[in-house]
Amino acid sequence: MEEKYDIVVVGGGPAGLSAAYSTAKAGAKVILFEKDEAIAHSVRTSGVTWISEMERLGIPGKYYNPVQNYRFVSPSNDILISGSTAKSCVLDVRATYQHLAFLAAEAGAHIMIKSNVINVIKDGDIVAGVKASTPKGDLAVRSTLVIDASGFSSSVARKAGAAGEWKRYGVGAEYECYCDDIDSATWTLMVGQQYSEAGYAWVFPLSKNRVRIGVGIGRPESSAEPLEKLHDIMEKRLKPLDAMGKIQPIELHYGFIPNEGVRQNSVADGLVMVGDSAGQSNPLVLEGIRYAIEFGRLAGEVGARSISQNASRESLLEYEKIWKAKVESKIQFALKVQTRWLGLADEEWDKEIEILRDMTVDEFLDFIKADFTAGKMMKLALHHPKLAARQLFNMILKS
Ligand SMILES: Cc1cc2nc3c(=O)[nH]c(=O)nc-3n(C[C@H](O)[C@H](O)[C@H](O)COP(=O)(O)OP(=O)(O)OC[C@H]3O[C@@H](n4cnc5c(N)ncnc54)[C@H](O)[C@@H]3O)c2cc1C
Repeated sequence: MEEKYDIVVVGGGPAGLSAAYSTAKAGAKVILFEKDEAIAHSVRTSGVTWISEMERLGIPGKYYNPVQNYRFVSPSNDILISGSTAKSCVLDVRATYQHLAFLAAEAGAHIMIKSNVINVIKDGDIVAGVKASTPKGDLAVRSTLVIDASGFSSSVARKAGAAGEWKRYGVGAEYECYCDDIDSATWTLMVGQQYSEAGYAWVFPLSKNRVRIGVGIGRPESSAEPLEKLHDIMEKRLKPLDAMGKIQPIELHYGFIPNEGVRQNSVADGLVMVGDSAGQSNPLVLEGIRYAIEFGRLAGEVGARSISQNASRESLLEYEKIWKAKVESKIQFALKVQTRWLGLADEEWDKEIEILRDMTVDEFLDFIKADFTAGKMMKLALHHPKLAARQLFNMILKS
């Protein structure tokens, strides 16, 4: 069976759903394929993000738990940064992504679940559609544009020969749990060897009794398995788990995230890459949901306009220019900080997190969000009371 659409979107994560929404809204005939049996059936993320960004992107407040305090635990240090208002949040990931799916459907996108894109169709060098295995049988869809929103796998771009495998990446394992009691307004990051040899562990609250506890590990720096580390932390009830009463996992989340900066090329003739597929994630706390939504919409808008020009690479470059101008240098700066962090021994971590103690909440949030503008960093480098902090910000400025 062969069908014809203007645009095919591969992947029903935040990037793909947002791209399907904006292409359909612009009047294009669009189909989205998601290989799982439901949107957000397998959760691959911890869902921490920023309230101002969610408001800007129109995500209703009922889909997230607000957080106003940020705690850092290292082997012999423990720092709490308390805010007066909530600026961060933990998403109900399934509800948020299904909300994005409803928006796409309402705008006119056709969504096919349990439909795995297994190959690309090419006319010479031009990407001209995909082949998918669906509940209705095998399907070939020809299209003017394919949007690869397949996440870490970049499966379409790789099959089309437009991208390679990620060499540096993070792998994370997380349990969503019932727990007896937790402060739902505080999230915690834990660093040092006992938590992760090359990365960090976390406790992210969804409510007083619901929490995500996870471990992220950087490859190739470490080959440790995050799920084993997570079991170890939970069995030993390392801080802050010691104060959480009963902890009962009810869901396992597992996923990969690229961690080597952005893709050099995110567009080709007939092809756009967006979200994790394009490397649009902040390597400091491995967060990419807000970028996936924002740049998914952008990819869809530019993609819909490009149809009249056969979705040529030139007509798609506008998308690449805009998103790179917004985040490429921030991601590069964040990689520098991360490289420094990956090499720290336990005692160094104890000292390093001292830097955070004197930061204001806003300074801290700018930092952790990788919101590095030269002006902000210059101010911090010149005026910060702690020498180590000045050195850190100077390092970012000089990179
Ligand atoms: C352990 C972990 C924790 C994280 N925590 C956070 C966090 O706290 N906050 C944050 O903002 N970000 C976090 N991230 C990153 C965030 O999850 C990603 O940046 C975000 O999901 C990217 O969205 P996406 O739509 O590009 O990709 P994805 O969310 O990965 O979606 C891709 C979709 O494509 C589908 N797909 C793949 N191949 C095919 C195919 N061939 N055919 C059909 N469908 C296909 C997949 O099933 C999936 O649904 C985390 C990542 C990991 C791994």
